[in-house]
Amino acid sequence: MTDNSSISNMKNHFDVIVVGAGPAGVSAAISCINNGLNVVLVDSKKKGKIGDKVCGEAISKETSHTASDLLKVQYPRRDEINANVKELVLQTAIDEDHIALPAIGYMVDRHKYGQRLLHNALERGVKLLDQTKVIRAVIKEKKVSGIVIKKLNKKEEELHSKLVIDCSGVRGIVRTTIDESLEPFLYNKFTKSDYASCYREIIELNKEHDLDGKIVLKYEKDIPSPGYIWFFADGKKRLNCGTGFIKEGKNKDKSVKSVYFNAMAKYYHPETYTVLDGRGGNVPIRPPLWNAIAPGLLVAGDAAFHADPLTAEGHGPALLAGFYAGQIANEVIERDEYSTQALWEYNKLIFSSFGSDNARSRILTITLEKLGAENLEFLLKRKVIKQADLTSEGILKKSSVFSLLNRAIRCLPKIGLLVLIKRTINVSKAVAKLCDEYPETPDRFGEWVIKIENLYEKLS
Ligand SMILES: Cc1cc2nc3c(=O)[nH]c(=O)nc-3n(C[C@H](O)[C@H](O)[C@H](O)COP(=O)(O)OP(=O)(O)OC[C@H]3O[C@@H](n4cnc5c(N)ncnc54)[C@H](O)[C@@H]3O)c2cc1C
Repeated sequence: MTDNSSISNMKNHFDVIVVGAGPAGVSAAISCINNGLNVVLVDSKKKGKIGDKVCGEAISKETSHTASDLLKVQYPRRDEINANVKELVLQTAIDEDHIALPAIGYMVDRHKYGQRLLHNALERGVKLLDQTKVIRAVIKEKKVSGIVIKKLNKKEEELHSKLVIDCSGVRGIVRTTIDESLEPFLYNKFTKSDYASCYREIIELNKEHDLDGKIVLKYEKDIPSPGYIWFFADGKKRLNCGTGFIKEGKNKDKSVKSVYFNAMAKYYHPETYTVLDGRGGNVPIRPPLWNAIAPGLLVAGDAAFHADPLTAEGHGPALLAGFYAGQIANEVIERDEYSTQALWEYNKLIFSSFGSDNARSRILTITLEKLGAENLEFLLKRKVIKQADLTSEGILKKSSVFSLLNRAIRCLPKIGLLVLIKRTINVSKAVAKLCDEYPETPDRFGEWVIKIENLYEKLS
């Protein structure tokens, strides 16, 4: 094992380079090494800081266990779990107007869990280059064939590989530094409006809270879309709280921190708690990349917009996408083929897994934005949305949410909202159908992507 060694001591040619050692990257690296590939994991953080990320830290039991089984790693374990999650509560400003949904999962210590996954990868033979910043992709012979890196106080260097997997989080450093001409179907932009800016704190209250087992989304009129402040029970006295929104249009200059503190003050006086950690971060809010490959490149996790646009649940999808990327890497390396055509199966795996749900979740987010907190409050107040209509596991089952919205039509007095909701249901169904019919080959992709983007246009 070559762990944390200097580049000069390392061979600079690999089967696979994985950029970023968050959940997507570590999962991709484990998936590759389980297949016997020679893989290097590159991260700008110090080894001991890897996994430390601003997060709500609520993860679904089902997804994390599925990913653990696929990767052959242990499930999240006691020292990594701060609390068990049993319920997701959607609430408005009025406490009585709420719905509680079974949501089985864990509040994890992301840093500890991330470190353990990293150590699992290193024990299996993954090489790590920490404190190494990836600057851009290297393109040779019309394919991504490596990366340019820079270590602290060192000159830029190139690393080469048969395949690169970009797991660099919202920055998407490889994806955004390749030219469109290499793969016109890959979205290679880094645009602020694709992300929600968040601020979150972990706080310790003076006394025990009454949210044991709960993750609460509290919808507030004064918070821009998606419009909630979250309170996740992270222990008997501890809460993980935060908010976030897209900083564009009229919200462009709003301070996320101020919005958070104003909302927070309605629930907990600053003198009743101590802040253990307070930091900002960005969550992707686009639907998953319709195409997450280019010749020699696979993109996974936040770099490919794999987080749920409504709930920000991105840890599980990142683990799954990383696993799939490693499987595809193994197949194409065996065949020694790295074209878009050869890698296409990866896109199909994403859309037959979480991709379709997340694509529809974006539609729900757009609709909530258009409804606004007041109309949502109305829906909850009239008990139009009931627990029995929603999922019995995981966070939100989107298909059920949309069937609920159908019922809402009967209750809404305003005809404009009625039209919006009806349109949402139709668009959601059409998106699900198109995801099921994801093109078998790249030559049908152009036509498919126009159809799916037109559906989103219908809502805007
Ligand atoms: C405020 C907030 C709350 C959230 N709440 C939840 C939640 O409750 N549940 C949930 O499941 N998800 C949540 N998420 C989302 C979740 O954190 C992400 O979806 C998940 O971490 C994505 O994993 P990733 O591996 O794709 O990226 P990341 O975890 O971001 O990892 C990317 C890695 O790449 C490295 N990197 C970046 N650029 C470079 C570069 N140029 N060179 C070298 N290395 C680089 C970084 O150092 C990092 O280690 C939340 C996110 C935020 C911001």
